[in-house]
Amino acid sequence: MLTSNVRHFAAVLLMGMAGLLAGATPALAAAPQHHDQAPGFYRLKVGDLEVTALYDGAGVFDLHWLNAKKATIDGVAKALREDPYLLDVADSGFLVNTGKQLILVDAGAGTWWGGPAFGRLENSLRSAGYTSDQVDLVLITHLHADHVGGLTTQDGQRVFPNAEVFVAKAESDFWLSPENAAKAPKDAQSFFQSAQAIAAPYVKAGKWHTFSGSEAIVDGMTIVPLPGHTPGHMGYEFSSKGQKILFWGDIFHAPRVQLKHPEVTAVFDIDQSAAAATRKRLLPRLAGEDIVIASPHGAFPSFARLHKDGNGYSWAPVVFADQWVDGSRAADGVDARELFMTTQGTRTQLTYTGN
Ligand SMILES: [Zn+2]
Repeated sequence: MLTSNVRHFAAVLLMGMAGLLAGATPALAAAPQHHDQAPGFYRLKVGDLEVTALYDGAGVFDLHWLNAKKATIDGVAKALREDPYLLDVADSGFLVNTGKQLILVDAGAGTWWGGPAFGRLENSLRSAGYTSDQVDLVLITHLHADHVGGLTTQDGQRVFPNAEVFVAKAESDFWLSPENAAKAPKDAQSFFQSAQAIAAPYVKAGKWHTFSGSEAIVDGMTIVPLPGHTPGHMGYEFSSKGQKILFWGDIFHAPRVQLKHPEVTAVFDIDQSAAAATRKRLLPRLAGEDIVIASPHGAFPSFARLHKDGNGYSWAPVVFADQWVDGSRAADGVDARELFMTTQGTRTQLTYTGN
């Protein structure tokens, strides 16, 4: 503890030194602000897989795009007045490097949806050390433009020229059908037009492949049908060395609302009751196991684990770390995570065990 005299002496000394320094050096200009951000990628180790979230953009989900009982919507409207950031969402795609193949799961919006705040995915992929011609496979969760827009330029060029693109047959048949497009209500027309224009150069090049549910496309990957949002909405579950990750497309649009109220659907869910039923069936399974969820509209880096919480669920987001470590919990319940803290040159290892 400093006595008040000593403190006074120290203050006078510091002021004197500050005066000396000010006299000796010219005043420094104010540091300019920087408005750029860190490159939009984040890598996660899932067994032997290197999984990279690729940022495409961010926006705000509109309250009117949610569908629920009036009381629930009124509650969300009230919460939104208190927390105007409640419906903020991201848009991400994901890369899986299996060591043999480079696989892209969803491709962001490109220039087909959401305006200039979107379309960063290809840049994010380059920042992550890859080029678009290295992508071998693209797995599509569904054909909405915010998930496939990044595949094709506005003038019809393939952004991933060497990639074989895989999409569920039900999904491809639905959106690429001229008859369905003609029958669709006016507001839905643009979804058909973008899907058809984005698919066209891959179809023409013989690189557009459909599957009906059981085909083996990639070793260690299981197709998980998640119908409702769109007719052929698909999840892709990868596992490696007992660790798992599910790319689940649009199971959630407004995660902070739908975690609490899993029954809330979105107006973009083509079959509202099937979308709700899929979620009702899927969420308890995911909450009961250690599986990472890659959720394109979750806060970047869009990886989280799900837990049961009262009548709803809570999210344990993967927290940014600049380490390449195994983030998963071992099967025996012992947490394999090791957190290294560097304090004044001393490296302290903290090992967490158990719960
Ligand atoms: Zn979406």
